[in-house]
Amino acid sequence: MTRELICIGCPMGCELTAEVEDGKVISVTGNTCGVGKKYAETEITAPVRTVTSTVMSDKGKPVPVKSAGAVPKDKIFDVMKDIKSAVVTLPVKIGDVAVTDAAGTGVDIIVTKESF
Ligand code: SF4
Repeated sequence: MTRELICIGCPMGCELTAEVEDGKVISVTGNTCGVGKKYAETEITAPVRTVTSTVMSDKGKPVPVKSAGAVPKDKIFDVMKDIKSAVVTLPVKIGDVAVTDAAGTGVDIIVTKESF
C-alpha cells in the first residue's frame, strides 16, 4: 500500500510517498531531510498531535493552554475531557501545569498565557 503525505516539519512541505506493508513503513521517498522520513513513519504507525485549548479559571475566565508534548491521536478526546473538567486558580503564568498527566498519557497540559 502507498500513502501520500505532506511533511509538516518545515515550510518546504515536501510531498512524501511511503510504502507500507502489514502496518510497517518499508520506505519513504520525497523527503529532503531525515525529519520527513521520521514524520511519515510516526504519522502512519503512531500518529501524535499537540493539543491546544482553554481551561476554565476560578474567576470564570478561560486560560489558554497546550500539551507540553505531543499526545497519541487516539487519546485526544480523553485529553480534551480532562482539560474541560479542569479549573485553574488565578493568577497563573506561562508554563504552569493546568492538568497533570492528561488522560494518562504522561503529558501535562500547561498554561500558554499569563492570566490574573
Ligand atoms: S522533509 Fe525536511 S525539508 Fe522537507 S518539509 Fe520535512 S522537514 Fe522540511
